[in-house]
Amino acid sequence: EKIISEAFLLCTDYEHLLSRTFEGSDIWEINHSGGVPFPADAETLELLELALYYGDLSGGSFDVTLGRLSEMWDFTGETPSVPDEEEIREALSHTGSENIVISGDEVYLKDSSAHLDLGGIAKGLAADKVKEFLVDRGISSGIINFGGNVVVFGGKTDEKGKSLPFDIGVAAPKNPGSGKIAGYLSLKDGSVVTSGNYERYFEENGQRYHHILNPKTGYPAETGIDSVTIVSERSADGDALSTACFVLGLEKGIDLIENIPDTEAVFITDDGQFHFTSGAEELFTITK
Ligand code: ADP
Ligand code: MG
Repeated sequence: EKIISEAFLLCTDYEHLLSRTFEGSDIWEINHSGGVPFPADAETLELLELALYYGDLSGGSFDVTLGRLSEMWDFTGETPSVPDEEEIREALSHTGSENIVISGDEVYLKDSSAHLDLGGIAKGLAADKVKEFLVDRGISSGIINFGGNVVVFGGKTDEKGKSLPFDIGVAAPKNPGSGKIAGYLSLKDGSVVTSGNYERYFEENGQRYHHILNPKTGYPAETGIDSVTIVSERSADGDALSTACFVLGLEKGIDLIENIPDTEAVFITDDGQFHFTSGAEELFTITK
């Protein structure tokens, strides 16, 4: 129990380091420094480097400089609404990873009007760190569920002492909140991350606006995908990749994942079809 409550405290620490809305977090400081270099924590730097790596690898589909747009769309707010086209265009002119400058342990944004938002990767990092913490404390097996990010380790043991994989459900996109699953992935160790258009969204004039943005347009990415699930060793990688693949769409997304070792993906398109990378099908069971 003590170890578990320490793990929860660790999550709070990461939130206080990486949240764009928590005043005084590293990300908040970088966003509000007016372009003055800010001495960031080593873990913030590590995560920014990783975010830049995936930004490059995805041709800019994963972009942690969409902060201004996240603020405008305000998907987590009480009454979100579609921003003005003009406002979106203005905010878009303050995005792009080339704005992030890391020099030694200091970070600043070349365009001081740009804002960082690590919402597409930070939960993955936190899940990895919690796993590391638990393993360090001698825990041999467990499930860490951050909602959309699941990390398992050590497998589970049946009554006869046989080691079995955990089954991790993938939500049915058309029935959000119903607890209905489209299928499940079986693995003993690793991370499963899903990005979907059904988790966080609002409706206006009969249209759905979800929280994964196309960095080219500033509007929610519409690529015919309902959800992308990434299986990988580390959850930070899976987190960035699930968001990137959602924006890239089915073909480019599958291509991207096929080129990354020990990483698999399950796409569910809006026609209800499943699409797998070469090693994913054997891990996945479709629910009848
Ligand atoms: P979830 O928030 O459900 O875990 P994701 O991992 O897909 O889902 O992350 C979505 C979050 O990532 C958004 O809330 C926003 O903070 C950020 N984001 C949105 N679009 C992008 C993008 N194209 N690249 C990087 N981050 C993004
Ligand atoms: Mg993500």
